[in-house]
Amino acid sequence: MDFDTHFKTALDDLRSEGNYRIFAEVERQCGAFPKVRHFNGDDIDEVTVWCSNDYLCMGLHPDVIGAMVDAVGRCGTGAGGTRNISGNTHLHRVLEEELAQLHRKESALLFTSGYVSNWAALSTLGSKIPNAVILSDEKNHASMIEGIRHSRADKVIWKHNDWRDLDRKLKAVGDRPKIVAFESIYSMDGDIAPMREIVEVADAHGAMTYLDEVHAVGMYGARGGGISEREGLAHRITLIEGTLGKAYGVVGGYITGSTALCDFIRSFASGFIFTTALPPAVAAAATASVRHLKQSGTERVAQRDRVARLRARLDAMGIPHMQNDSHIIPVMIGDPVKCRMISDILMQDWGVYVQPINYPTVPKGTERLRITPGPLHTDADIDHLVMALTALWKQCAISHAVA
Ligand code: PLP
Repeated sequence: MDFDTHFKTALDDLRSEGNYRIFAEVERQCGAFPKVRHFNGDDIDEVTVWCSNDYLCMGLHPDVIGAMVDAVGRCGTGAGGTRNISGNTHLHRVLEEELAQLHRKESALLFTSGYVSNWAALSTLGSKIPNAVILSDEKNHASMIEGIRHSRADKVIWKHNDWRDLDRKLKAVGDRPKIVAFESIYSMDGDIAPMREIVEVADAHGAMTYLDEVHAVGMYGARGGGISEREGLAHRITLIEGTLGKAYGVVGGYITGSTALCDFIRSFASGFIFTTALPPAVAAAATASVRHLKQSGTERVAQRDRVARLRARLDAMGIPHMQNDSHIIPVMIGDPVKCRMISDILMQDWGVYVQPINYPTVPKGTERLRITPGPLHTDADIDHLVMALTALWKQCAISHAVA
């Protein structure tokens, strides 16, 4: 086989559909964010980032940076091994204790990313609980879908956020071990799960609940424990999964739950066992970030204020955006080529960086700009973004494509 020809044909197909991914090359700088350096061929210009998942700018916080720098100075760079073979450091254990306390669970377990934590935990639960069935919300993230697929357990998809459909499907499964897998905030639409109803239904059928709080940890709840904390439901969820790479501004993923559950995953999950542990300095920085957001609401309040202001300004200018109760503002375009083009023009002509979100991240026909205001965006930044979008809206006549 001519492998390269195969690769190139597949890539050409992506290009012709408008779904070829082009990464913007940027560099954040402490003190300047959300302005970043943009490497544009031989030029370097300055653009404003509107699509960061470092939602609260904790990756630039002096306490978090200080913790990382200090730990690198003391402990060096890498962990030097898997958790099992010489890579299990004191800093990992401290972070796990912090995360267990955050969600008021007995135990926590770290992974190298949120993706890996979902993939490893769900594949282990599905494959190691005899006769298990996993009931998965139809909009669950790729990492959950892949974990479930890898487990080879039976899977039942329930309608998005529809607890009545979940109830029917749980009943139909009958007397088998059942795992209900869902997210608190869905990353692309920004909608929030009806958690209480889902938990009630799962309890009524004796099912375990697996909750992805990746877009909510640090952001919601009095101590940043996510939607499950805000709703007073954390104690009713069997397993809470989260990331250290979004609101906490570092990298890594984790699960929390009972001691037996975390020990079970620790002992059987290939994605935990056979990989080098997170660098200790990453664990130190994440601990500082989690601790800070447990006692400080300042960043959350400032971020919410920016979200409200941007929504109001978009409304005033007639730019349609998806309504939801979260911090994620999807501006619908509905066409992959237009979405890419608008994003390119925003970057080149307006110094505004919003990555286009196309298939397969979202279904075809629902392409969008996913805007995430942060606490450091100024009124002037917001005005500039809205002015740019308004000009483009007229220029591209895209209003018909908006859902
Ligand atoms: N779960 C959800 C819902 C996500 O949106 C993401 C990433 O965007 C992940 C898990 C993976 O988390 P991480 O980026 O830490 O790998």
